[in-house]
Amino acid sequence: MILIDGKKTSGDIKDEIAVEVTKLKNEGKRVPHLAAILVGDDGASQTYVNAKVKACEKVGFESTLVRFSADTSEEELMAKIDEMNNDDNLDGFIVQLPLPKHINEHNVTLAINPDKDVDGFHPTNLGKMLLGQETFLPATPYGIIELLQRYKVETSGKHAVVIGRSHIVGSPMSVLLSQKGIDCTVTLTHSRTKNLEELTKAADIIVVANGIPEFLTGDMVKDGVVIVDVGITRVEDKTKKSGFRLLGDVNFEEVSKKASFITPVPGGVGPMTIAMLMKNTLISRNRRG
Ligand code: NAD
Repeated sequence: MILIDGKKTSGDIKDEIAVEVTKLKNEGKRVPHLAAILVGDDGASQTYVNAKVKACEKVGFESTLVRFSADTSEEELMAKIDEMNNDDNLDGFIVQLPLPKHINEHNVTLAINPDKDVDGFHPTNLGKMLLGQETFLPATPYGIIELLQRYKVETSGKHAVVIGRSHIVGSPMSVLLSQKGIDCTVTLTHSRTKNLEELTKAADIIVVANGIPEFLTGDMVKDGVVIVDVGITRVEDKTKKSGFRLLGDVNFEEVSKKASFITPVPGGVGPMTIAMLMKNTLISRNRRG
């Protein structure tokens, strides 16, 4: 069994990006600039945004963090997005999800200029992805493809089963796995899928993203399967300084005994998501000249 080390791989990607940034600096050019908007004080969201700001520092990007209180109106948020859309010094920005219930996430995603949508959530960018055109790929599925490629996992003609059909992970994942160059045969499954175990038992590659801790168990997979665990659920753990630990959607203990490759939680897909956000921001900087 080979453990797919997302922490190391994301570090390699950030090092590669830092080299590009140093080159820009040495040529007297502007370095990439990423901004993040955080609305409210959700603990997990704060952790993610802080990690993104830290990653910017590590690769040499400029970063801006804008915080709004949980009672900020949609109009106020939209005004900030409009300002960022028109700020020539910004190469990309993200609005950290989830947003408070009174703000419509769909309206917010639509308001972001697709050319600065480094999260790759805007319909224009998702459409381009579907057509196989150059775009900002959503960071989590992009990171998973990068992991499979860097670990030289054979994908051509393999049967991949994706569990979960969210707009940010499962659905785009199914599209990317089936594209030319990756060439998997893909089955996208969800909460209404009837014969899930039959499908997972036949799968060569399984990407699990349904947010149910330790959902995929050893008896649901065949020997030699490749496992990508996207899940991140915080469960209370008083023995930890933070008061919680993270669980993936895979029962690692059982499944790792049968897998040929497997990503751990933490240290698998999570760090890759941030590295690919940095990559998208660098792509945007280079596009904008
Ligand atoms: P979500 O929570 O929005 O949706 C869950 C999906 O799972 C739905 O499509 C649903 O149909 C499906 N599902 C629910 N029960 C199921 C079942 N019994 N069998 C099969 N499918 C079922 O999904 P999400 O936002 O993609 O998040 C999934 C998990 O991934 C969460 O734990 C989340 O925290 C994590 N996540 C991690 C990263 C990362 O960077 N590693 C990024 C995004 C999300």
